[in-house]
Amino acid sequence: MSARSLAILEQHVTGCRRCPRLVAHREHAAAHPRPAFAGQDYWARPVPGFGDPDARIYVLGMATSAHGGNRTGRAFTGNATADWLIAAMHRAGLANQASSTHRGDGLRLDRAWMASAVRCAPPRDRTTAGERRECARYLDAELELLTGVRVIVCLGALAWNAAAAWAGLRPRPPFGHGREHPAGDGRILLGCYHPSPQNTRTGRLTAAMLDDVLGRAAEVAGGGRSRSPLVAEAREV
Ligand code: SF4
Repeated sequence: MSARSLAILEQHVTGCRRCPRLVAHREHAAAHPRPAFAGQDYWARPVPGFGDPDARIYVLGMATSAHGGNRTGRAFTGNATADWLIAAMHRAGLANQASSTHRGDGLRLDRAWMASAVRCAPPRDRTTAGERRECARYLDAELELLTGVRVIVCLGALAWNAAAAWAGLRPRPPFGHGREHPAGDGRILLGCYHPSPQNTRTGRLTAAMLDDVLGRAAEVAGGGRSRSPLVAEAREV
């Protein structure tokens, strides 16, 4: 896929102000950082997708985190959810390192792309149906550009519902951890509990469960091991 097309889409995403409630919240969060992040310059804009333009696995979250992606400017970066997800992607050979702390930290994905269904941070992590509909345009556009994607790993029911809407599935298939559903054009949806602290600290989602889902995704996508010498080398260190 053309990196230029994705860069143009990224410009549209990062300049978006379609949802007044979310625009206000992302900027409010930046003006009121958590004590641990005091003095940091928050991104405070929509967070674009990130990854390999030749991705075969699309990892879809629900919404940007106010003090994670909204702070760092990169999807799944700078919070406990990112710690879990990127460590698992590294174990699966989809990332060159096991952490995702800030843009410029050297993270590179291999055969994978990650994004959120709603790209701005919502109050109390809750989005409205209207906001989800507005932001669906960017999921649509990314999946049109990322023609190599074979499997969409949906982190949580809202991500699953967003992907099901993108695929035009009626009636909407129920979400479940490990559940698969055809999405047309040879693509599939693959459900996974969201790797949020609420799930990982309670044991609802274990590292082994996440590894199983990503392993299945890699299998569907074509090969469970990285084809990238860069990633292979990093994994041996
Ligand atoms: S949530 Fe999506 S559609 Fe709404 S302002 Fe943010 S980027 Fe735009």
